[in-house]
Amino acid sequence: MAELGPLTCAGCGLLCDDVFVERSENGVRLQPDCHLGTEWFSARVLRPRDAPAAMIDGQPVDVEEALTRVAELLRAARRPLLHGFDWATVEDARAAVALADRLGALVATDRVGGAWPGAPAVPLRGDSSATLGEVRDRSALIVIWREDPETTHPRLLERLGAGVGSHRRRAAQRTLVVVDDRDTATSKLADLRLALSPERDLEALSSLHALQRGMTLRMADAEGELRELLHRINDAPHAAFVYGPGLTAGAGGERRALTLHELVRELCRSRHVVSVALPAAAGTRGAQEVLSWQTGYAPNIDLASGHPELLSVTTPLDTAEGVDVSLCIEAAPQAPRDGVTGIALSSLPVEGVAVSIRTASAGVEATGTAHRLDGVPLTLQAPLPGEAPTAAALLTRLLAEVGA
Ligand code: SF4
Repeated sequence: MAELGPLTCAGCGLLCDDVFVERSENGVRLQPDCHLGTEWFSARVLRPRDAPAAMIDGQPVDVEEALTRVAELLRAARRPLLHGFDWATVEDARAAVALADRLGALVATDRVGGAWPGAPAVPLRGDSSATLGEVRDRSALIVIWREDPETTHPRLLERLGAGVGSHRRRAAQRTLVVVDDRDTATSKLADLRLALSPERDLEALSSLHALQRGMTLRMADAEGELRELLHRINDAPHAAFVYGPGLTAGAGGERRALTLHELVRELCRSRHVVSVALPAAAGTRGAQEVLSWQTGYAPNIDLASGHPELLSVTTPLDTAEGVDVSLCIEAAPQAPRDGVTGIALSSLPVEGVAVSIRTASAGVEATGTAHRLDGVPLTLQAPLPGEAPTAAALLTRLLAEVGA
């Protein structure tokens, strides 16, 4: 039995930095316990060390040969796309943007397949946000909008002082509202629950806004619930909305996000109201902030014209933009469409791509910087350093090769 820690866990965007990991022949155990963190560490700590360092068309090759092939593919690409970033560090994202700039590539931190959510709400209009500490210390009311953090961010309620068990004293001092028609682990903890279907999110948010301004309500059948929610918000000096892909993913997602931020702005006229976004993965927030610093735009940009342009297409990116080479960085690549050559730089095994190179896992095998979901930067440690290169090191090599 070996204990490692305290470590920062990158199993989700919370990046808990108080985690101890016990390894034994039976697997991995986390202290404090977290099912998602246990899965995250198990996948990396127990990964076979003799896995191939790189593959081309399913055959093991050495890293140099794979890098040469990737450079050839990128040089010949007409419309390259760099995407993923689920487990990427800030250093990985920074190297990716430099390479994309040289290639004139698309860079996407959102999912590239499926219905596209539209022009991004936060970069266009801004938001009122807060750190986890501010919400924990000040919010008397927390509204969770169509998310189940007990499953996706298991220690979120504990960190916000709205959890159960040892956090009951703080939890008793605040109200937890869940807007969701699913029975989830989080909805079971709610003091007030609005079981609205996802198709009604836009209507519900704009109705709350209208009610707050003393205007006519559009959702007459849900008037009682919406009035009750608004009454509780107006009774609290500080309130927080927690939202994520449940609201923003899919067609019209960013319009719904925009409506939430417009509601928060309206509520802020008489009290302090903030929103906290749950990112899809631990690396997403850091990658988006790198894009913002380096190009002025996030979450998805196009560098083909020689200067950064915010991507605001309304159709799925992988079909709308005629992508022919797709480089997935530290994420599980989706199966490439016909005619698209897939490349993966990943610390976990990948299949179905033309070239893959194994990277060191930040937080286990390599150090790096990650941004917590509220933007706070934290260091990922390397308790079990490995010999594999980081994605940042590979991308820097590719930049030199592509530019040569
Ligand atoms: S809540 Fe997230 S960051 Fe914290 S231990 Fe669990 S998986 Fe890791």
